Amino acid sequence: MISRKFGPNVRIAKVLTDIPLDIDHPVEFGVKLFCEMCRKCSNACPVKAIANEKPQSEAPNISSHKAITKWTVNAEKCFKFWVGSNSDCAICIRVYPYNKDYSKWWNRVGIKLANSPLRSLMLWLNDAVGFGIRMQPETWWNRNSN
Ligand code: SF4
Repeated sequence: MISRKFGPNVRIAKVLTDIPLDIDHPVEFGVKLFCEMCRKCSNACPVKAIANEKPQSEAPNISSHKAITKWTVNAEKCFKFWVGSNSDCAICIRVYPYNKDYSKWWNRVGIKLANSPLRSLMLWLNDAVGFGIRMQPETWWNRNSN
């Protein structure tokens, strides 16, 4: 799920209530068009666990989500890679252009560009500033301790 305000940085939680609520619907704001152009996640995946063709509702295996038309992750390929690496991976998350800190104004401008006809400019800017490049651990720690 990608929100217009927070990108993919959203985690769903349950709240139990008896308040009468209206059911809303998915909001289209250009993500699919951006993803069709980008494909950074599937290109970067070391085991090609993210489909690179059109979105599908069929799951590649029993371990993957089904019944939603999307670029479904082949969970068995993905987790097999994790097990073989003795760690998790998250390369797809690192390179994902929507995965940004939206408390920063420039990233809020970026998501507006991504969801507009200027989406290819956003992708170019994303690469120009080096977003998604792997950092050395000390670089990351020093950056966040200042
Ligand atoms: S976590 Fe790694 S192996 Fe799994 S889908 Fe993402 S890039 Fe591929």
